[in-house]
Amino acid sequence: SKQSGRNNFQFYTDELNRRLMERLDMEYRLRQALEHDEFLLHFQPKLAFASGNICGAEALIRWRPAGGGMVSPADFIPVAEETGLIVDIGQWVLHSACRQAVRLNAMAGRELPIAVNVSPRQFRQSDLVSRVRSALQHSGLNPACLELEITESSLVHDTGSFIKTLQELKTLGVKLAIDDFGTGYSSMAYLKDFPVDRLKIDQAFVSRLETESSNIAILKAIIALGHSLNMKVIAEGVETAYQQAFLHGIGCDELQGYFFSKPLPVEAFEKLLGD
Ligand code: C2E
Ligand code: CA
Ligand code: CA
Ligand code: CA
Repeated sequence: SKQSGRNNFQFYTDELNRRLMERLDMEYRLRQALEHDEFLLHFQPKLAFASGNICGAEALIRWRPAGGGMVSPADFIPVAEETGLIVDIGQWVLHSACRQAVRLNAMAGRELPIAVNVSPRQFRQSDLVSRVRSALQHSGLNPACLELEITESSLVHDTGSFIKTLQELKTLGVKLAIDDFGTGYSSMAYLKDFPVDRLKIDQAFVSRLETESSNIAILKAIIALGHSLNMKVIAEGVETAYQQAFLHGIGCDELQGYFFSKPLPVEAFEKLLGD
C-alpha cells in the first residue's frame, strides 16, 4: 500500500542518514587520529619453510584512540579508502614502516624485508612511486628490505597502467607481492607480465583446507603457477599444525599466521628476533 511504501521509504532514508553520519564521524576521527599520532604498527613474522627462520614481517596498522580501545583496520581502512584519507594514512604507514625496518635490520644483524599494504586507491595515485622513493630516502632503508603488498582489486580496468606502475616500483629496487591471491580472477591471465616476487595465497584457501578437499587442487595449482614464474609463494592465515605441515608438504615456501605468531607490537617482535 501507499502507507507502507512511505514507511519503507522513511526507514530507508533514516538508515542512509545514519550510515552517512557514522561515516562522517569516522572520517573526522581518522583525521584527528593522524594529527594526534594515534596510529601504530604491529608486525607479523613470516616463516620460511626451508630454513625454519623468520624471513620477514608484515606491518599491520593499528589505531588506538585516546582513552579508547584498539580499533581494527577492518573497521576503518574501508572508510579511509572511500574518503581518500587512505592516501595520508598510507603515507604515514610507509614512512613509519621504513623507519622501523632500519632499526629492526640493525637489531637482527641481517636484512629482514618488511611488507607494507598498499590499498587500491593509494596504488592509483599518480605520485605513488615518488612517495615510496622519498620514504626510502628519508629512512635510508635498503630498497630490497621494503616489500609492497598489492591486492588484485587494484587492477580495475587498465592492465597496462597497472603493470607500468609495478615496473616503476621495481625500478626503485623494492619487492612486490600480490596479496589475497586467488580471490579475484582478473590478474590470473596477466600474472606472467607482473614483475612481482611473491604470491600471497588468501587465507580463505588455507582455512578451508581441512573441510574442502577441492581446495587442495587449487592450492597446488597456485604454488605451481607461482614457481613457474619464479615467484615465492606464501600462505597466510595458517592457524593449525595440520595446515602448516600440509602446506610445507605441497611445496609452499613461506607461511604467516596465528599458529606461528600473531601480529606483535614492535617490542615483542624485537624480542622474538632476539631469541
Ligand atoms: P591483510 O593484508 O590480508 O592482512 C592479513 C590479516 O589477517 C591481518 O588482519 C592479520 O592480523 C590477519 N591474520 C594473520 N594471521 C591470521 C590467522 O592465522 N588467522 C586469521 N583469522 N587471521 C590472521 P588485520 O591486521 O586485522 O588487517 C586486516 C586488513 O586490513 C589487512 O588484510 C589489510 O587489508 C588491511 N590493512 C592492515 N594494515 C593496513 C595498512 O597499513 N594499510 C592498508 N592499506 N591496509 C591495511
Ligand atoms: Ca597484506
Ligand atoms: Ca592478505
Ligand atoms: Ca585480506
